[in-house]
Amino acid sequence: MKVQNYMLTADVEVICPHCGSLESGFVGNPAGGEFVCDSCGQPYQVHKEADIEFK
Ligand SMILES: [Zn+2]
Repeated sequence: MKVQNYMLTADVEVICPHCGSLESGFVGNPAGGEFVCDSCGQPYQVHKEADIEFK
């Protein structure tokens, strides 16, 4: 059996650890990056090994 070892994904969303707002619009992989929440204006970092949950 042939094996594919990568997947494509889009529409990354991160839940703000301050206010719980669902943040979207990330370009590329946000893991390891620092962002400012659009809702509460607080800065947060996405862990570089953050888990990915498939909806
Ligand atoms: Zn927030």
